[in-house]
Amino acid sequence: MTPIAQNITMIREKIARAAQACGRAPDSVHLVAVSKTQAPERIQGALDAGLRLFGENRVQEAKERWAGLKEKYPDLVLHFIGPLQTNKVKDAVKLFDVIETLDRPKLARALSVEMKKQNRFLSCFIQVNTGAEEQKAGVSPEALPEFLTLCREDCGLGIRGLMCIPPVDEPPAAHFALLKTLARKQNLSELSMGMSADFEEAIAQGATHVRIGTALFGGR
Ligand SMILES: *Cc1c(COP(=O)(O)O)cnc(C)c1O
Repeated sequence: MTPIAQNITMIREKIARAAQACGRAPDSVHLVAVSKTQAPERIQGALDAGLRLFGENRVQEAKERWAGLKEKYPDLVLHFIGPLQTNKVKDAVKLFDVIETLDRPKLARALSVEMKKQNRFLSCFIQVNTGAEEQKAGVSPEALPEFLTLCREDCGLGIRGLMCIPPVDEPPAAHFALLKTLARKQNLSELSMGMSADFEEAIAQGATHVRIGTALFGGR
């Protein structure tokens, strides 16, 4: 087994154990392999090991890497997990399958227009700034209900769930719990939360998508 295949096996085992520990089915948690800045050999290793769900945080970098691979692997699913500028929306809609970082009305409107133009209807997660950090993207918990209505009713976007990136200097559990509470209130079933250092905790709090980079591919 290659090191990447070993890491995948190990992470899948940890995901399964964390899910079972709270009475959830292991396959209710999706592993999003965060491939940003990783060398092509490592990504090929993950593809060879059967992974098809990947996350990227820069449109241009992702396009260079994945546009060709998408033809070779038609079952690839690409999640966008970074800050999305409206001038990159066209390329993002073309390349990605899911936008996890929908965080403002201007972006919702731009995505709506572009999806109709391309006749490609990506599903979205709304990013919530659970730590109320000034420098961080995401809607505030208070603004979520109104933003959700705008996304759905004014823009016709398919909203699957919520996503968060907890503050680096705080224990993440309270943020995961808050995201879950917000999702419940809005009847949203999917939660993208948890990274290499805290995905097991996130699963305990209900994560349906964990975004894992370094634990899978090694350091960036
Ligand atoms: C880079 C990144 C990750 C993965 O982080 P690791 O600690 O390497 O697992 C997850 N989510 C987002 C939004 C990221 O930018």
